Amino acid sequence: MYQGFLIKYAEIGVKGKNRYLFEDKLISRIEEVLRDVDGKFRVWKESGRIYAEAEGDYDYDGAIEALTRVFGITGICPMVQIADNGFADLCSHIIAHMRETYGERAYTFKVKARRARKNYPLDSQEMNSRIGEILLREFPNLKVDVHTPDIWVNVEIRARINIYTETIPGMGGMPLGTAGKAMLLLSGGIDSPVAGYMVSRRGVELEATYFHAPPYTSERAKEKVVELARLISRYTGPVKLHIVNFTDIQMYIYDQCPHEQLTILMRRYMMRIAERLARENGCLGLITGESIGQVASQTLQSLNATNAVCSLPVYRPVIAFDKQEIVDVALRINTYETSILPYEDCCTTFVAKHPVTKPNLASIEKSEQKLTGQIEQMVAEAIETAEVVIAQS
Ligand code: ATP
Ligand code: MG
Repeated sequence: MYQGFLIKYAEIGVKGKNRYLFEDKLISRIEEVLRDVDGKFRVWKESGRIYAEAEGDYDYDGAIEALTRVFGITGICPMVQIADNGFADLCSHIIAHMRETYGERAYTFKVKARRARKNYPLDSQEMNSRIGEILLREFPNLKVDVHTPDIWVNVEIRARINIYTETIPGMGGMPLGTAGKAMLLLSGGIDSPVAGYMVSRRGVELEATYFHAPPYTSERAKEKVVELARLISRYTGPVKLHIVNFTDIQMYIYDQCPHEQLTILMRRYMMRIAERLARENGCLGLITGESIGQVASQTLQSLNATNAVCSLPVYRPVIAFDKQEIVDVALRINTYETSILPYEDCCTTFVAKHPVTKPNLASIEKSEQKLTGQIEQMVAEAIETAEVVIAQS
């Protein structure tokens, strides 16, 4: 019944000259997600509007589902688009559309007509009142409500004419690829996939790094992380995942340093390696799923000690979220069920019974001095031997 969708976008409408860049990124992302939907779509723009028009039959629900995964869209409006064959013809299309969509139901409505083309013979006010009258005459069950109507009857006079009465909320955020690239430290937990998704929603493309420690962490733990990367890629686009073997580094720290400092020391090496991979791959920041106070390694003191080894900005979008708030997002983006699968990740294998919660940076640095010499080589080797997987849905 609908030829396709009118796509609404907010923030990107106000970016001055950059607007074209933003619109074009949004269009290519829409084309990308619609490629997996049954049907053939043409995505195009006209000042302030983007259309995803179907050529022939298509999977309506599938298209909506795909479009609700696109960052930068604020509203998805199933649309009837007609040629301008005069006002009487327009009215008969509106009537047909209302009958098909709502039958003889009783509801309140308000007409909202807009003219992008000022040479149309009626102005918006005239259109509003004349279309309103015609609908009232045609459907005895209808009432006008100018303040909070059940249904807005939108009519847009442009090169062609758009008619739509429904707006399905979009994801919001900014189109992918409009804000550079960042490196997500992706573990098998609940928090880091959510963190990656949240930053990406601002238009940032993702790469990811996962540290595993075979044989202490299993192949299934690794597959779980690959699956998480694939799940977030439904929103973020393909994710280049670097899988780093961390076993030697972890064992070496375990042998040389006080065990209560192990987690912090490991996290410092993770950050160093992730930062090196980030720079090599053109990423402009790191992303973690840290949240204040959640575990010993996430107190302000611990975060200080971890952060001290990085010079790239570290983005921590869930830093002030409660666990339940993070879980809510994980449920919404469908990563939760995978995140709670019980496979160990490399932090849990060696954790001390009583890890330091208020690490002193000087004492951490002193412990690290015991590692110099061999550890640089281990880091270089871990980076060199990292396995790369492109995770995509
Ligand atoms: P998550 O639920 O994301 O696993 P967490 O509550 O288990 O987080 P930590 O294990 O302290 O917290 O990890 C904090 C952050 O460090 C994670 O959110 C993630 O960004 C990163 N991280 C931890 N372990 C790994 C790992 N094995 N590989 C990559 N990144 C990791
Ligand atoms: Mg974890």
